[in-house]
Amino acid sequence: MDYKKLAELLFPDNKLSVEEIEKKYPKRNLPEGAYVTRFAPSPTGFMHLGGFFQALIDYNIAKRSGGVFYLRIEDTDQKREVAGASAIILGTLTSYGFLPDEYELKGGVTIGNYGPYYQSERKEIYKAYAKKLVAEGKAFPCFCRKTEGLSDVKESREKKFETGINEDKNVCRHLTIEQIEKNLKEGKKFAIRLKSAGNGVDKIKFNDCAKGEVEMVANSVDAILLKNDLMPTYHFAHAVDDTLMGTNVVVRGEEWLPSYPLHKEIFEALGFKQPKYIHSPLIYKLNEKGNKNKISKRKHPEADMRHFDVEGYDKQAVVEYLMNLINSNFENWRKANPTADIMEFPFNGFKITANTPIFDTIKLNDVSKEIISRYPAEKCYQELLAWARENSLENVDYLVKDKEYVTKVLNIDREKPKPRKDIYKWSMFFDVFDYMFGKPKSFEIDQTEEEKFKEVLREYKKYLNLSNKDVWFEKIKEMADKLGYATNNADYKQNPEKYKGNVAKVCEYVRIAITGRKNSPDLYEIMTLLGEKEVLERMSQFA
Ligand code: GLU
Repeated sequence: MDYKKLAELLFPDNKLSVEEIEKKYPKRNLPEGAYVTRFAPSPTGFMHLGGFFQALIDYNIAKRSGGVFYLRIEDTDQKREVAGASAIILGTLTSYGFLPDEYELKGGVTIGNYGPYYQSERKEIYKAYAKKLVAEGKAFPCFCRKTEGLSDVKESREKKFETGINEDKNVCRHLTIEQIEKNLKEGKKFAIRLKSAGNGVDKIKFNDCAKGEVEMVANSVDAILLKNDLMPTYHFAHAVDDTLMGTNVVVRGEEWLPSYPLHKEIFEALGFKQPKYIHSPLIYKLNEKGNKNKISKRKHPEADMRHFDVEGYDKQAVVEYLMNLINSNFENWRKANPTADIMEFPFNGFKITANTPIFDTIKLNDVSKEIISRYPAEKCYQELLAWARENSLENVDYLVKDKEYVTKVLNIDREKPKPRKDIYKWSMFFDVFDYMFGKPKSFEIDQTEEEKFKEVLREYKKYLNLSNKDVWFEKIKEMADKLGYATNNADYKQNPEKYKGNVAKVCEYVRIAITGRKNSPDLYEIMTLLGEKEVLERMSQFA
């Protein structure tokens, strides 16, 4: 067959030659050892936690090596396109501090010389490479369509052909140039398939940077490269784009691992060198029964990165928690270097966890508590306000008007060597501190202790003194003694039968009257902030 003629028949009016294209994508001028990575999501309308996890690996690998991290939008499947999706992805990356070096905003700016960064704008490029493969006899047109009957291929297999995952060779590889011409004259649409040389038996080995050496059967599928709307499949676009755009490390979900043999054959057909691959594990979550489930938007709110914004999680906490899932030594490093910049962590993108990452909300909360506990009150206030502006408008006015009071509340037990660790997300602020913004509605007092509770409150009204913390506590002790409570724990432990309880019990009663709770941050700070009048009012309810 005259393949050159075939290529002209199929693509008579393609505008760009491969040579012209390659001139526009020169080798990147980067230092030795610099990595170029990309985040390449489909614009499905939200940023998936798993995607963000990969982007974090991409960013760290590129930035730590003096390379480039860019964003490419894989929007060749127009049915799945959601308007504004790329803005959401870019917005999420940016809000976490991972602004790509190169990206394009639809209808807005393009930063970088290796674009277009939307695959739908690269159609002519894919066509040029498909034409080249046809001209070299390495690809062929396929006219099979679900509706048009498939001669010796069963209907049931058509679905597989359409997705490009089929074990058999495609019938259209045997069409003569006359048959092809006839089909074209009849206006039949065609897809372009790879003419696979695989026999379904030979094996290949490759070294995945995350999984180590993997052995697989070489590709034998005449996979689709261009669909019949002449948009590329993921496989073809991966080879063309990652080569032209200079990607030398591809981080992608492990669901792509089975496609590796196909990618190898496509790269070889095109004469391209393959990048390094990191097939990153998907993130799972345990259900109530302890079974693992892939994190999915349908079942898990945290699959969508917006969840963390809505809940008001600290962004650094989300990042640090995920870093821990990527490199399990992160946690120990953080313990040893509590205030170090995360970029000082000896990250190893090529040694990512071999275990299945399990998303553990409790662990995330702990990381977040730890980080928030180190923030000064003013920073907490700013974070809280920023969260409210996006997610809790009804509280914004109040937060702005009463900045001083709110900051003081945030400062209770903060900015100390052992700061309190009770807040892990800003949406919990008004619940944790409800008693600072109104009288408590319920009280954690055991019925059996109600009489003793009331007795303490009646008496305490006479002893209330907020002038300073020492005096305040001396007075409590005085009252405790008068009512028959031990003023120190040692005495109480020696002769518990002599006392009604110890001074800690007295404090607990006062705390319950003031806050409704048995546990709270520093009681003296709370009482001073509420002020004497309010404190007396709260105690008077019971005495
Ligand atoms: N668009 C593909 C996906 O979202 C990208 C995979 C890759 O990073 O190569 O899964």
